[in-house]
Amino acid sequence: MKNYKIILPGVPAYPSRGFLGWCTVALIESDKRVLFDTGSYGDRFQLLETLEKNGIRRDEIDIVFLSHLHYDHCINAELFPDSKILLSDREWEYFESEEYKEVGDEVVPEGVIREFEDRIETTGEEEEIAEGVEVVEFPGHTPGSSALLFNEILFTGDAVKNLWDFKNRSPPYPTFSDEDLAVENYELVREIAEIVVPGHDTPFSVNEERYLSDFNLLIEIETLREGIFRIKRRSEGKRM
Ligand SMILES: [Zn+2]
Repeated sequence: MKNYKIILPGVPAYPSRGFLGWCTVALIESDKRVLFDTGSYGDRFQLLETLEKNGIRRDEIDIVFLSHLHYDHCINAELFPDSKILLSDREWEYFESEEYKEVGDEVVPEGVIREFEDRIETTGEEEEIAEGVEVVEFPGHTPGSSALLFNEILFTGDAVKNLWDFKNRSPPYPTFSDEDLAVENYELVREIAEIVVPGHDTPFSVNEERYLSDFNLLIEIETLREGIFRIKRRSEGKRM
């Protein structure tokens, strides 16, 4: 059983200015509804609309699980005021102790996290947050980065950002904690998962090191009006 849906697909692209921050947002349906990561500020309308199209109101999300506290994964947690917000003990410590400031991690949105901190509960290794949905810690990208394992499908956040990194044993960029550990953790991924739903890419098979469907991911820039552009994620070939 693969009861999960990609609500917003991750895009493995680095723009010349800043970060695009288009991370994967997924919905895991077990005995509870778990939203895995939340996307960026600019994703807000599309996030809520896509949930609605799937027949889900925001107050029907039981748990918002945050793989880590980078803005593009956590910032929309405040859109779900009725949900429990979960993240790892270690990631919370990274925030509370201000360790993230010491290591120059400038993409943790402190003010927004303070807005929803009362609803945060922390979890640890192997904790089952819903039936068959287990927390797996993957320190490296940040010291408290963690994933969820469900039916041998691993939702990794930025512990595995994209297929290329995984294939080439390249650490996630940027890494704020431990690059060697981040790469070592890819071996653990191989041991426990059949499918990876990566932080900024399309789901792939671990054994075959290839995407689940044959397609080419295209980033298109089209002219919307004179001088105004639209950047689009498009895939060519078999659709997911
Ligand atoms: Zn990140």
